[in-house]
Amino acid sequence: MRRTVFNEDHEAFRETIRAFIEAEVVPVYDEWLAAGQAPRDFYRKLGELGVFGIEVPEEFGGAGEESFKFQAVVTEECARAGVSFGGSSVHTGLCLPYVTAYATEEQKKRWLPGFASGETMFAIAMTEPGTGSDLAGMKTTAKLSADGSHYVLNGAKTFITGGVHADRVIVCARTAPATKEDRRAGISLFVVDTASDGYTVGRKLDKLGLKTSDTAELSFTDVRIPLEDLLGEEGKGFSYLGQNLPQERLAIAVGAYAQAAAAIRFTKAYVQDRTVFGQSVASFQNTKFELAACQAEVDAAQAVVDRALDAHDVRELTAADAASAKLFCTEVAARVIDRCLQLHGGYGYMNEYPIARLYADNRVNRIYGGTSEVMKSIIAKSMGL
Ligand SMILES: Cc1cc2nc3c(=O)[nH]c(=O)nc-3n(C[C@H](O)[C@H](O)[C@H](O)COP(=O)(O)OP(=O)(O)OC[C@H]3O[C@@H](n4cnc5c(N)ncnc54)[C@H](O)[C@@H]3O)c2cc1C
Repeated sequence: MRRTVFNEDHEAFRETIRAFIEAEVVPVYDEWLAAGQAPRDFYRKLGELGVFGIEVPEEFGGAGEESFKFQAVVTEECARAGVSFGGSSVHTGLCLPYVTAYATEEQKKRWLPGFASGETMFAIAMTEPGTGSDLAGMKTTAKLSADGSHYVLNGAKTFITGGVHADRVIVCARTAPATKEDRRAGISLFVVDTASDGYTVGRKLDKLGLKTSDTAELSFTDVRIPLEDLLGEEGKGFSYLGQNLPQERLAIAVGAYAQAAAAIRFTKAYVQDRTVFGQSVASFQNTKFELAACQAEVDAAQAVVDRALDAHDVRELTAADAASAKLFCTEVAARVIDRCLQLHGGYGYMNEYPIARLYADNRVNRIYGGTSEVMKSIIAKSMGL
């Protein structure tokens, strides 16, 4: 189906990103995979290219775009080429909306120029070893010092994407205990300088997939946070998370859809090339039926993604809409990529084939940003159940 969600500017940007990936990422991607992360300098290149500044207001060094669709283009192009830009989608897709929405002018002046250039990489730390789905159960605390001059941060976070390279981390912490009436009360957000004393990056975690993103454990021991690094109002952190998680889930839906589309593309090329029993794998009716069924599912996922992108651009994407898009697209991608891998036979199990990496990379889509079960809970609640 012809897509109407992207305009000429988006398509011109797509060409730029596609050429950049071919020139700067594909030739060195195996090195990144072996190193387990994209090199720090690569993020400066993305800054120079303008990828990080798209939605940064012009006065702070960006392009001042308000549409999320440019980021969707980046996600789609990475999936198409079977690569990723390390953990940088967290920098733009997850962290930026918090800064643009809740930072003061003074904070924006301090953080956004470096954000746009790639000098100051951001990550976000919500999850803790003891709590992921149930974020209100977080234990990390940020207590106001006795003289009221700063906060003192203590606790630990885990699974933090970009956690090794990050210069600033948006840390969710309790500034007050939960109340009996509201478990979500008392959570605040801080933009913590990772060079602070007591801030420690623990292990870079060894993951099943997403091998070029640095996912780390973090710990905080009496980290001094200046008052001016509180983001938004004290105690409002949970509502800020609620307002921003739909975009994170939309981004995951876009990525999952694009990975599934890429799986079909890789598989079509493979089955046309591979000969068994004296004929191409593509010539078997089973192969045609499998790929046709996959294509129908991907078409449906694309319709969902496009509708959600349009709704998000006009600020109409609800939490339940985003949950529904994430649930549907990630489940489609799981089925499609698995069927495509099957059509590769044993080669599909080898990491040198992009389908194997897609299989591993895609698995986390049903877990992070909220699990499929959590998405179902959100949708069920919106149905009055
Ligand atoms: C590669 C990767 C990158 C990540 N990046 C980040 C990051 O940058 N920042 C960050 O803060 N976090 C990050 N995360 C954390 C991620 O968001 C959490 O893993 C996710 O929210 C699930 O939390 P959990 O792992 O604690 O699972 P748990 O909450 O322990 O869930 C375990 C199981 O219980 C189920 N479950 C939980 N609650 C319910 C319920 N109410 N009803 C039914 N079933 C339920 C879950 O669906 C799941 O199947 C990342 C995770 C991964 C794997």
